[in-house]
Amino acid sequence: MSAEEPAAFSASRIAEAARVIRGARHLIAFTGAGISVESGIPPFRGPGGLWNTYDPRMLELDSFLAHPEKAWPVIKEIFYDHFGKAKPNDAHLALARLEKQRAAPEGRGRLRCLITQNIDNLHYLAGSRAIVEFHGNSRLLLCLSCGKRVEASPDLLATLPPRCACGGLYKPDFIFFGEGIPPEAHRRSEREAGQSDAILVVGSTGEVYPAALVPRWAKDAGATIIEVNPGESEFTASITDIHIPLKAAEAFRLLEKELAS
Ligand code: NAD
Repeated sequence: MSAEEPAAFSASRIAEAARVIRGARHLIAFTGAGISVESGIPPFRGPGGLWNTYDPRMLELDSFLAHPEKAWPVIKEIFYDHFGKAKPNDAHLALARLEKQRAAPEGRGRLRCLITQNIDNLHYLAGSRAIVEFHGNSRLLLCLSCGKRVEASPDLLATLPPRCACGGLYKPDFIFFGEGIPPEAHRRSEREAGQSDAILVVGSTGEVYPAALVPRWAKDAGATIIEVNPGESEFTASITDIHIPLKAAEAFRLLEKELAS
C-alpha cells in the first residue's frame, strides 16, 4: 500500500484509470463473481463463499449425471431461488452505460466487449449486450438428449429433475466442473483480448482457468490492466497496472463521476 491516505490513494488510481479509459481505442472488461457480491450473490470461495455451505460436487458433471434427483434441488435453491432474486448493482449498470457511450472518432461504444465468468445474467439485465458468457448462463436449460435450449421458467422447475418433452434430462446451460468452455466464447474472448489496449478486470481471483487467461491475453497484446478488487488476486502483483482496491459498485460510481468531469 502507498504511504498516502487510502481515500487519496484510491482517488489518484481512479483518475489514472479514467485517463486510460478515455484514451483507449479498444476497451474491454472481464468480470468475476466479485462484481455480483453487492447484488447479494456470494462468490464460490473465501469467507461467506458458497462452498462453505454447499458441496461443490453437485456441480461435477459425473455426479450430476449419476444423481440428478439429488443435485437438482440444491441447484434450484442456489441458482434459481437465490440468484433469481438478485438485481444489477451500480457496477453492472456503469459497464452497460460504458457500452452505450459513443467514443470519438468512430462513434463506437466506449466498451467494446464484456467477457464474464458469471452465470447470473446480471450484465444482461443491466443492459449490456456485447457480452461473452465464458461459462454459459443459468437463464437457459439444455436438454442432454435432444440439445434443445429453453428458458428456465418456474413451471419447468416445479418438478425436479426437470425433463424435456423428449424425456431427456435438463441441465443448466452453464458449464459444470469437467466440461469444456463453449468454443465460440473461447474464440471470441481470445480475439477481443488480442485487440484490446485496455481492460477492466473486476472481482476475480484469477484462479479459475482457462478464464484467467483472458487478462493475460490482453496483457500480451499490450493492454493496460485496470483491476477493481477490494482484495488482491493472482493478477494484482503479476500483470495489473492500476489496482483500485475498492468494492466494485463504489469504484464504478467514482469512475463514472471522474469520466463525466
Ligand atoms: P471467486 O469467487 O473466486 O472470487 C471473487 C473475487 O471477487 C475475489 O478476488 C474477491 O476479492 C473479489 N470481491 C469480493 N467482493 C467484491 C466486491 N464487492 N467488488 C469487487 N470484487 C470483490 O470468483 P471468480 O474468480 O469469478 O471464480 C469463481 C467462478 O465461479 C467464476 O468463474 C464463476 O463462473 C462462478 N461463480 C459465479 C457467480 C455468479 O454468477 N455471480 C457466483 C459465484 C461463482
